[in-house]
Amino acid sequence: MDCIFCKIIKNQIPSSKVYEDGRVLAFDDAAPRAPVHILVVPKTHVDSVADLNDMDLVRDLFSVMKKIAREKGIDKTGYRIVVNHGKDAGQAVPHLHFHLLGGRPLKWPPG
Ligand code: 5GP
Ligand code: ZN
Repeated sequence: MDCIFCKIIKNQIPSSKVYEDGRVLAFDDAAPRAPVHILVVPKTHVDSVADLNDMDLVRDLFSVMKKIAREKGIDKTGYRIVVNHGKDAGQAVPHLHFHLLGGRPLKWPPG
């Protein structure tokens, strides 16, 4: 499948990896919007959050995000987890990814 994040997972495209285990990969966003901007993805291809039905995978994804937030030192200052689904939300890559953002005060609400 011609999926850019599947290629990153298979090391066919380089990325700055932050965390990896059997089911989850995390890597720095190529165009960071905050000092910490990490993408957390399942290693199996899932199109979007609307197709996320594996609750064990949900648990794994969130526990990885919590662990990374601690390691990056943003667990105390605060962080935001964002998932875009579909056109109106601006989902650009059709492989489920959680944006983990932090390291500066983040504006709310989003535009
Ligand atoms: P979306 O808009 O789909 O929620 O987010 C896609 C994100 O993927 C964007 O923040 C974009 O900067 C990031 N991105 C797109 N292509 C690549 C890539 O090849 N490598 C990395 N590390 N990030 C990418
Ligand atoms: Zn994919």
